[in-house]
Amino acid sequence: MATATAAVTPDSKVTQYVAKQQKMLINGKWVDAQSGKTFPTYNPATGEVLSRVAEGDKADIDLAVKAARAAFETGPWSTMSASERGKLIWRLADALEKNAEEFAQLESLDNGKPLKVARAGDIPLSIDNFRYFAGWATKIEGNTIPLGLRQPGKFFAYTLREPVGVVGQIIPWNFPLLMAVWKLSPALAAGCTIVLKPAEQTPLTALRLGELITEVGFPDGVVNIVPGYGETAGAALAAHPDVDKVAFTGSTEVGKLIIKASVGNLKKVSLELGGKSPNVVLGDADIDATIPGAAAAIFYNQGQVCSAGSRLFIEKSIFDKVVDGVAQKAESIRVRQGFDPESDMGPLVSEEQMHRVLGYMEEGKKEGAKSLGGGERIGDKGYFVKPSVLVNTNPNMKVVKEEIFGPVVTAIPFSDPNELVTQANDSMYGLAAGIWTRDIKKAHALAAKLRAGTVWINCYNVFDAALPFGGYKQSGWGREMGHEALEHYTEVKSVCAAL
Ligand code: ADP
Ligand code: MG
Repeated sequence: MATATAAVTPDSKVTQYVAKQQKMLINGKWVDAQSGKTFPTYNPATGEVLSRVAEGDKADIDLAVKAARAAFETGPWSTMSASERGKLIWRLADALEKNAEEFAQLESLDNGKPLKVARAGDIPLSIDNFRYFAGWATKIEGNTIPLGLRQPGKFFAYTLREPVGVVGQIIPWNFPLLMAVWKLSPALAAGCTIVLKPAEQTPLTALRLGELITEVGFPDGVVNIVPGYGETAGAALAAHPDVDKVAFTGSTEVGKLIIKASVGNLKKVSLELGGKSPNVVLGDADIDATIPGAAAAIFYNQGQVCSAGSRLFIEKSIFDKVVDGVAQKAESIRVRQGFDPESDMGPLVSEEQMHRVLGYMEEGKKEGAKSLGGGERIGDKGYFVKPSVLVNTNPNMKVVKEEIFGPVVTAIPFSDPNELVTQANDSMYGLAAGIWTRDIKKAHALAAKLRAGTVWINCYNVFDAALPFGGYKQSGWGREMGHEALEHYTEVKSVCAAL
């Protein structure tokens, strides 16, 4: 690590916000937990407590669900026009845009990511997402269905798309605001009401968003935000008998717990889970574009991205060249605290996450993998880990099979394209994949063979509110974004009338 440059300090608005003890949003009011308990959220760049936050558990979730139910059944939201709903979502986007810098700073402080990354990625993507779904509110429609019965003209039948009801949304810590927005926006467009549980590591931007939600005029109880731990608040929300649908983003392990918890009332479930995505470099790829692309595919956001290109398959003829290039990129990444203007990579989100990543590095080396540099902790304050490229791996190693969720890529050579497809698909996950080639035919043929919810060609981690995102296999159920996301927040009602 080069010598640190002077860090920019947070604006006074941000300092004041984090100095407050954070409350939870239930029925339009900011309240303490029923138990009176609070929990800390940390600044991962220093390991110090950033804020104390009301610790929601079952009792608070019960109150929030009650408020969401009342808002859904009888509140002003239940009779509001779609146009009004769309207008409110748009206003929320405007409010977020007005406060963009504050949100970027809060996100960087709570999650650790470089401030410039939050400014360029998390916040504008969140604003776009609200605007995209604001437009959908007025475009949710059913069909008229000609019935294939023996007496044509005897029946008139049509479908309605109605909001699914009260929705529980449980989100992760890697893109705290953006993940909240991905979930909130289609639910609001569809007319649902919501109980949102942010990740315990990073509750601040979701709570601050709650203030904007009330300011722009969403009726009480439409969005309730209950911070707390997964095993208590999260589990209570997933199991709640009066929640119609639960949407979850997080680990595959917890995703399976969510499904189990949902069984009691058979609530609808959508899941966006882990990945171990193959990023495939063919021999004819444009190497100058591929090397930075493959490095960014894994190292973006400290490698804490569910779609990270963590298995880098490279055709043998160019293996050394590409691997050396990616390793050099890793070496040149400036790992610094997020407020340092020169930071390319911040700390990992938590001490636990840092130990998880370091543990995988150790295990990989023990099993015979070789690190081309990096993979160790930097300093003894904060949770900084130097990015690493692993070679000499085999398909049975944990570092090749399991999601590390950190700045570690395994580079794997291949020569036979058919074998490559088998190897690339040899994973319990199927979230995303990348292909680097100059041959358009090869690119689309390979895209069709990869079992993944998203395939990027000559690019990686490109997200857009209009483009559905989600997983095959154990990477999840359903899709985020695009009109596909809306379908998870609506029920279809068939109406059939005799004429
Ligand atoms: P990680 O292990 O990387 O923190 P998780 O999948 O545990 O990822 O966390 C994602 C989200 O799921 C967080 O909001 C967390 O609080 C929540 N969560 C964790 N365990 C449970 C659970 N048993 N039931 C419901 N939610 C949970
Ligand atoms: Mg935190």
